[in-house]
Amino acid sequence: VQQVYTFGGGVKHEDPRSRDKVITGGKGANLAEMAGIGLPVPPGFTITTEECVKYLAEGANFSDELRADVAQALTHIEKTVGKNFGDAADPLLVSVRSGARVSMPGMMDTVLNLGLNDETVEGLVKTSGDDRFAWDSYRRFIQMYSDVVLGVEHHLFEEALEIAKEDNGYDNDVELTAADWQKIVKQYKAIVEGALGRSFPQDVQEQLWGAIEAVFDSWDSDRAKVYRRLNDIPAGWGTAVNVQAMVFGNMGDTSATGVAFTRDPATGEKAYYGEWLVNAQGEDVVAGIRTPQYLTKAARERAGAKPLSMEEAMPAAYGELAAVFELLEKHYRDMQDIEFTVERNKLWMLQTRSGKRTAKAALKMAVDMVEEGLIDEATAIRRIDPMALDQLLHPTLDPKAKRDVLGKGLPASPGAASGAIVLDADTAEKRAERGDAVVLVRVETSPEDIHGMHAAKGILTARGGMTSHAAVVARGMGRPCVSGASGLSIDMKTRTLRIGNRELKEGDIITLDGSTGEIMAGEVATIEPELAGDFGTLMVWADKHRRMKVRTNAETPADCRMARQFGAEGIGLCRTEHMFFDAGRISAVRQMILAEDEAGRRAALAKLLPEQRADFQAIFEVMAGLPVTIRLLDPPLHEFLPHSDAEFADLSDTIGIGVDTLKRRADELHEFNPMLGHRGCRLGITFPEIYEMQARAIFEAACDVAKASGEAIVPEVMIPLVATRRELEILKKVVDEAAAKVFADKGMTLDYLVGTMIELPRAALMAGEIAEEAKFFSFGTNDLTQTTLGVSRDDAARFLSPYVEKGIYPRDPFVTLDIEGVGQLVQLAAERGRATYADIKLGICGEHGGDPASIAFCEKVGLDYVSASPYRVPIARLAAAQAAL
Ligand code: ADP
Ligand code: MG
Ligand code: MG
Repeated sequence: VQQVYTFGGGVKHEDPRSRDKVITGGKGANLAEMAGIGLPVPPGFTITTEECVKYLAEGANFSDELRADVAQALTHIEKTVGKNFGDAADPLLVSVRSGARVSMPGMMDTVLNLGLNDETVEGLVKTSGDDRFAWDSYRRFIQMYSDVVLGVEHHLFEEALEIAKEDNGYDNDVELTAADWQKIVKQYKAIVEGALGRSFPQDVQEQLWGAIEAVFDSWDSDRAKVYRRLNDIPAGWGTAVNVQAMVFGNMGDTSATGVAFTRDPATGEKAYYGEWLVNAQGEDVVAGIRTPQYLTKAARERAGAKPLSMEEAMPAAYGELAAVFELLEKHYRDMQDIEFTVERNKLWMLQTRSGKRTAKAALKMAVDMVEEGLIDEATAIRRIDPMALDQLLHPTLDPKAKRDVLGKGLPASPGAASGAIVLDADTAEKRAERGDAVVLVRVETSPEDIHGMHAAKGILTARGGMTSHAAVVARGMGRPCVSGASGLSIDMKTRTLRIGNRELKEGDIITLDGSTGEIMAGEVATIEPELAGDFGTLMVWADKHRRMKVRTNAETPADCRMARQFGAEGIGLCRTEHMFFDAGRISAVRQMILAEDEAGRRAALAKLLPEQRADFQAIFEVMAGLPVTIRLLDPPLHEFLPHSDAEFADLSDTIGIGVDTLKRRADELHEFNPMLGHRGCRLGITFPEIYEMQARAIFEAACDVAKASGEAIVPEVMIPLVATRRELEILKKVVDEAAAKVFADKGMTLDYLVGTMIELPRAALMAGEIAEEAKFFSFGTNDLTQTTLGVSRDDAARFLSPYVEKGIYPRDPFVTLDIEGVGQLVQLAAERGRATYADIKLGICGEHGGDPASIAFCEKVGLDYVSASPYRVPIARLAAAQAAL
């Protein structure tokens, strides 16, 4: 199979592999696509991701066939451009660019201006007629190649350049003359010799293959690995390599380079958005070395900035660019993130891809594009990452709260973040692990900082524009970010910083407003999010397209109310034990547990009955008209026991039993392995009076609320940790008898269901038999995962991440259901349950009920509903719609 594909220069892309991201990577596929629709793309070729995978496994034993194909593809570039690679009189220069299946901004390596050496640089001087440009390009090449391919530390070059600028009294790179650059090239070559003991490679073929290998190697760089882990990108994908003729944005004032989005990636507004620099090469914009300028006149005016926008400074090239924006959006039917270069007034396209965006922008664009007729509702639904909705569900800064504004930067990624200042990524990670909220403050961020950015609540940088590394990564992660805060200076020696005229130190609390760019002292109050608007529209579409219902896991009226606002269609799991821990009741609970006999337990339960009834009443009132699944007491009793002497003494005073007796009883209740011990339905089997009291409280509350509200109240009583049909049979009878008694007392009846959790492998296997007694199954996938894998969730932290890193489990099985293993049990139980009782209601109430990948599996198995924590309800609604499409 072909492993090298050419693009540009009139190549027809007949082989679909050439435009398939899986094969040629996102960058390569899109370059081919753009060239194919007639856009000005410098010619080039792509070596496939397959070749990278082979290289990483076998090393650099490139086949003769591959070498021949590369040579031939290079000839294609030479013919198209009319220059030859390595030609001392008129050299072809190329860039060597990485490009994986999905974009990994700044994670992998790129080399520009390749093909320059001591001879070809002279040729470039002559053909360009611009010696400053030629020597600037050569020094850029040495610096980049040495860093990326030869592993020479880049700060060595930066320091040499800084010294040269100081010696000449220059502030800016643009002030250096041809002679200055030529001198710097000499110094750079000496730095390479000093570091490596050999000279900078002059052979252009050696340069090319060195760069190709470096790009392949960069797939396995530490920072790329971290990025992959954070973004669930499989290690086996590999990256493609793109070799492309250089075009030059650094050929004087009619040349430029820039980055643009066809819509605003922070807000979603339909307005071109971008940054450019005159007389510069691409990395200058992204790396935040020079402060880029606004692309459009409107943006420049809004910001009150002086340097001319591209629209004003280069109207012809800008007009062409705007036409390309329109064409690309129509072609891809999505917002595009574009890299371009203007060489002596001629526009060239260097990259396009679907742009990363904030959740807010994603929603606005999806809804707008449906209105514009660009996409349909189903596409809009598919396009939103359900997990990204999380960003919108959390509070934003209260506009009425007082703000002690320290300074301002660019509003690079919206949202509010408060936390302690930390000055480096490792500290950010360490403090976040301890549970501290931190804000990462840096001069600028680099790909090495990615773990710290992830750990931080927000990111603040002194340098870099809206398309800088910090901004792009923060938007992708949903972290609020303020970038390019020019009033900020950091002193790493004293670990202090200045913003404007205020001194701060590491550890001080600040607040960022990523939507305005404001930096504030202390913590600023927040307000609840707005759920109408685009969010509401998309949710209506999602509800229209999904099949599964979405319920919530909640036990307090406040959580229930919030979940209902978020669109919950019932409660899938109300854990009654949470109510037992309340300060006012724990002593009655303890009295019940420590009682020596049934009479003692009943006396304590009588005190708990009115309290439980009130709990259920409040919940039924909030959830009126919707089903409410209540799980009877589940945890091992020992969890409720007093611990300290003071607690024992208190309890002894309250219930009038001696401390020694209490301690003896508590010892008797001690368990070696409580999670597999006296818990769940085993409590009901041994102490039926507990479940009897709970059932009575449920039915009394249900009758009272039904009578008062006139609404249907639908209790679903759930028995936990069942392993056998007989357990359920015994306990169902307890519940039914309690119901009958309450209905007789109240003179009314209600519909209700009794069912069970399926959370033990035996229960899943025996589901056919258990379904004889159950009206519903709710898959308790937290326990089912623990018991199937034999892994305790509370102890897994120590070994689970190495397991995931080594690919033993593809993901944390407590976050995303282990579909291969645990999933089989779910599927089998669903089938066997339905075979016995066709109308059995099936749901899931583990953490997995709020995880999109697990929700997709639930749809496949045909569950009736998923149940998720309140904040996950909108996520589940969208994920359920995506699963159904
Ligand atoms: P990244 O994936 O980090 O964006 P790229 O391969 O896109 O890396 O390269 C970074 C920048 O280098 C581009 O935005 C572009 O401005 C510049 N560049 C890459 N190839 C060329 C080329 N052939 N001619 C001119 N500039 C280029
Ligand atoms: Mg790029
Ligand atoms: Mg359980």
